[in-house]
Amino acid sequence: MILHNFNAGPSVLPKEVFEEASRAVIDFNNTGLSILEIGHRTPLFQPVMEEARGLVKELMDLDADHEVLFLHGGATTQFMQVPMNLLNENEIAAYTETGTWANKATKEAKLFGHVEIAGSSKGTNYTTIPKDLTVTPTAAYLHITTNETIAGTQWHQLPYDCGVPLVADMSSDILSRVMDFNKFDLIYAGAQKNMGAAGVNIVVVNKNILGKVNRKIPTVLDYQNHIKEGSMLNTPPVFAVYVAMLTLRWLRNKGGVAAIEKENNAKAKLLYDTLDSLPLFVTPVAREDRSKMNAVFIMKDQQLEAEFLALCKKEGMIGVKGHRSVGGFRVSMYNAVTIESVKAITDLMKHFALSHS
Ligand SMILES: *Cc1c(COP(=O)(O)O)cnc(C)c1O
Repeated sequence: MILHNFNAGPSVLPKEVFEEASRAVIDFNNTGLSILEIGHRTPLFQPVMEEARGLVKELMDLDADHEVLFLHGGATTQFMQVPMNLLNENEIAAYTETGTWANKATKEAKLFGHVEIAGSSKGTNYTTIPKDLTVTPTAAYLHITTNETIAGTQWHQLPYDCGVPLVADMSSDILSRVMDFNKFDLIYAGAQKNMGAAGVNIVVVNKNILGKVNRKIPTVLDYQNHIKEGSMLNTPPVFAVYVAMLTLRWLRNKGGVAAIEKENNAKAKLLYDTLDSLPLFVTPVAREDRSKMNAVFIMKDQQLEAEFLALCKKEGMIGVKGHRSVGGFRVSMYNAVTIESVKAITDLMKHFALSHS
């Protein structure tokens, strides 16, 4: 049976990436050595790290001030590493309150300085993205979560002109759409949703915003040390960096971010058009704020949800059950999810609706 994987994370990657990565576990680049047994400071791995960093620079069209790092600890470590490096104790950082992930980031920032909420969608139970932000002009930075993976919302108008350095958690929509990446002073993302395997996160940082806090920063948590060492301060997660590099290569060969954005738009359109045409399914998310990565929806008659989930399972649809905090369904349509997979699930939704009409 053909499986269609809509997991929210870790998620499906391109088949070529799985194949090449599995070959490298046995024999990396015809060296007779596994990628798992080579030293990170060798002529074998050094070019992998350099290519991965270079591909991010190329795909995001970054200027010379923006540095690319591959670090440990997932996006969750960035929740604290960002304020530790950017926020003095007596300063304010502006955060947007848009759902589970933004709120986790906010909680960590409060450990390091003052936090103001620049915009919130709490009042709509996180089914919207705030449109009018109020940012104190002296704030150290504004933090946004460009795609809320659990709530199923996404920033479509980015607050580029907020007047303070802009920081973004892009874990679930990184490199899925064209943005002016240079307008962000810091971008971070766990790799396991849209650009690789679990175990590494990417940080893109404008080096001009660093070195301005007066607290002592532990060596491994100071971005400046990682920049100095070319993202090789300590042993990087070698295999995860390699898988990210293969995924980035795949994206570049497809035509880059603009090309994948077209595909992502077509997939999201198919999914949401189907949802809107079937009264059986409803999405709580405001139309203009719908995520193109994670479609969150429920059934009008919630008694039927278990039956649809069972049908999904029988037909090889993986990862369709909604997050435990929201219920219903979540269909994640990251870069590597094909339009054929989205077609398969929308056909199943239509079939199910027809059989219950
Ligand atoms: C998954 C996710 C995280 C957490 O990532 P970890 O790598 O598990 O720490 C943070 N932010 C967003 C938006 C996510 O989707």
